[in-house]
Amino acid sequence: MPHDTNLSPAQGAQQAEQRLGKPCFYTGQKVPGTFACVTCQFRIGNRGVLPSCPDCGEMIWAYMGDGPRPVPEGEVAPPPEAATAAPVVAENVALEPTVQAPVKVEEGVRLEP
Ligand SMILES: [Zn+2]
Repeated sequence: MPHDTNLSPAQGAQQAEQRLGKPCFYTGQKVPGTFACVTCQFRIGNRGVLPSCPDCGEMIWAYMGDGPRPVPEGEVAPPPEAATAAPVVAENVALEPTVQAPVKVEEGVRLEP
């Protein structure tokens, strides 16, 4: 699969994640675990910062471990994509009419000076 050089590693990891259905990370992220190169399936047991693939130079790694998605050190777990993209659906919202701005009724107002 040809590399799309227009993608940042983070975007590449995101796309690989969607394609593979596994958490994907990229070179430079400090995240421990067993990873497989998304290009050549080279496997590494990573303890520190993810390297580039020693075999093909790929920067994107698929997390092969079990359990929840690991969070790279120094990063805050991002909110799930769906949570931010989905419209907010509020249920059980009282459908009371909004209070209308009081209409000021003035009598005896002359419309012309
Ligand atoms: Zn590789």
